[in-house]
Amino acid sequence: MSVGVGLGSTEIDSLISHAYPFRLVDHVSQLVEYKSCLGTKYIGFNEPFFQGHFPKNPIMPGVLQVEAMAQAACALASYSLKSDGHDVPDNTLFASIDQAKFRKPVYPGCRMDMHIEVLRWSGKIAAISGKAFVNEDLVCEAQFKAAFWSSNEYTLSIIKPDAFQAGFAEDIIKILHINGLDIATESANGIQVLLKRRVKLSFEDAAAFYGVHSERPFFKDLCTFMSSGDCLVMVLKGHNAIARYREVMGATNPSQAAHGTIRSLYAKSIDENAVHGSDSLENAHKEINFFFPEFKKLSHSS
Ligand code: ADP
Ligand code: MG
Repeated sequence: MSVGVGLGSTEIDSLISHAYPFRLVDHVSQLVEYKSCLGTKYIGFNEPFFQGHFPKNPIMPGVLQVEAMAQAACALASYSLKSDGHDVPDNTLFASIDQAKFRKPVYPGCRMDMHIEVLRWSGKIAAISGKAFVNEDLVCEAQFKAAFWSSNEYTLSIIKPDAFQAGFAEDIIKILHINGLDIATESANGIQVLLKRRVKLSFEDAAAFYGVHSERPFFKDLCTFMSSGDCLVMVLKGHNAIARYREVMGATNPSQAAHGTIRSLYAKSIDENAVHGSDSLENAHKEINFFFPEFKKLSHSS
């Protein structure tokens, strides 16, 4: 009886970064989260590596057998992390390969079944045991460690009252998307909910949020402005999102903001400058928590 989850080729594509001509796992079955899976690779006559390895006597390179097992392990890790609410890792690296043994050559035209078992998880690193079989004959075995992590970062965006009242929110969000910044989602009872909320801050809310500026001469005006109307608060997600969003926002003073940035396009003045963006990882965490204390992903992003 077969237990566990099965993953087809398209699902594997959404879970691992490896792509043709280097995708070496065709499907995955019997997947038990964080524990084990069975990866399958159909070894065709047209595999690119057979052209050189070797033209007269094609055999699958042993290192690629280990690679295929690692890719099956990668699908297992990504599926497990994703089901747990984590981001799918877009970085995967071998940390070590031990006790690799190659028992029999692997020829074109066969099916390689890879039994993957997680020995240990420790932070981002998993220790894995892999055994590959062709027609029930063990062809290759190895133990390896691999690191899995996501380079997604989260940052807080506010479309301030001036830009929100003027109806610029949609256009600003389009600019964010074009620049690889998407509105993050959170799973709530199995449904993905966008972390985007219209809010009306009180003067006290604004003062708490901008507490770092409490000694600055513009503090009172800033809090009055921020509480003058509705804002749109959003958690943005993307590669290098904090710095990227600061770049896309442009300089604090719109007269100094680079051409094409949000502030150059939509801000009126330094006091009413259309958008807010977190300026560091630490502040991004604090600010996201201020508006979205329910956001769980932060606890395992880094
Ligand atoms: P940023 O929003 O670019 O991170 P700061 O954190 O320095 O800029 O300031 C927070 C907000 O306070 C600014 O977006 C702006 O609205 C306001 N502000 C900053 N400096 C001034 C200033 N010299 N005069 C008036 N308002 C200011
Ligand atoms: Mg700031």
